[in-house]
Amino acid sequence: MTTDIGPPDYKTMIPPVVQRNYGKWLFHEILKPGVLMHVGESGEALYTVRAGSPRLLSTETIRAICEIADTYCDGYLRFTSRHNIEFLVSDKDKLEPLLEELARRSYPVGGTGHSISNIVHTQGWVHCHTPATDASGPVKALMDEIHEYFVTMTLPAHVRIALACCLNMCGAVHCSDIAILGIHRTVPKPDNSRVPNLCEIPTTVASCPTGAIRGDMKNKTVTINNEKCMYCGNCYTVCPAMPIADPDNDGISIWVGGKVSNARSTPKFSKLAIPYLPNNPPRWPEVVDAVKNIIEVYAAGARKHERVGEWIERIGWERFFSLTGIPFTDKHIDDYEMATETFRSSMQFKWR
Ligand code: SF4
Ligand code: SF4
Repeated sequence: MTTDIGPPDYKTMIPPVVQRNYGKWLFHEILKPGVLMHVGESGEALYTVRAGSPRLLSTETIRAICEIADTYCDGYLRFTSRHNIEFLVSDKDKLEPLLEELARRSYPVGGTGHSISNIVHTQGWVHCHTPATDASGPVKALMDEIHEYFVTMTLPAHVRIALACCLNMCGAVHCSDIAILGIHRTVPKPDNSRVPNLCEIPTTVASCPTGAIRGDMKNKTVTINNEKCMYCGNCYTVCPAMPIADPDNDGISIWVGGKVSNARSTPKFSKLAIPYLPNNPPRWPEVVDAVKNIIEVYAAGARKHERVGEWIERIGWERFFSLTGIPFTDKHIDDYEMATETFRSSMQFKWR
């Protein structure tokens, strides 16, 4: 059997118009929300229609997408890095019929320009063993409520939203304008009958960022200093005999102000805005309301092209908390290794 063949060569799967103009594009325009036009030096154009997807797709849905691409795009489509579907149209006459077909099938078209595009998210309760919340559920609940921002381009800048269901932060929560992050709030419970057979104890001890775990060599297990534990769940990742999930105490934290691009300001990490909101399936109303509130306050106050983090840095964090009505608590104050760098070492601050 042949192995290590790698992925198929992507150049065998791009539309002929892209093959011909590869690396020779002159400019692009957003014709309307979700519709892009790229024009090459040759004068040829490619029209791209971006449609939202729930990321988790059945094979039936993938076949339906392929049918659409066969009818309007000579069989060509792609997925974006935020899991949107892009239908690649070479024949301009097929653009409007494609949009009508997508509208008939209720595929939302948008996610371009100053919009809220798809939410980068993770596995949640669908497939992972370490989540503190679900992924697909909160994403659906939130996108239902902020759908208008996907299909329009009315925000000051684009607002990237990401969700990760545990502190492993798979995806982009650490660098998003608004990040939704599952958190635990209880100490893991080592099962002393299983730890000796299931876990490598030195690795488990070394997995703890606060040094809360000690080896109990006599009993071939571990002990946890509850005072030092901040419920990251890393020990459970390496030692399945230390379960941490707790339906009554697990929930969601909200982070803001991250960005990846270098436009105007350097990339930023997201910072804690709301330490805890409950898991409230299936619609997570507290989380949806909190995110909508942040978006609305940002949209009302930010300048054109100003990302969430740039807006907060301009107005100051005190003002961010007072404008959004989010309470500032002791949980917001960093107490990890590099914490002092995050403290204010200046007399400059706004009273409210
Ligand atoms: S963020 Fe955590 S729970 Fe979610 S998929 Fe990644 S490892 Fe699993
Ligand atoms: S949950 Fe995190 S902080 Fe607590 S004991 Fe495990 S690794 Fe350490």
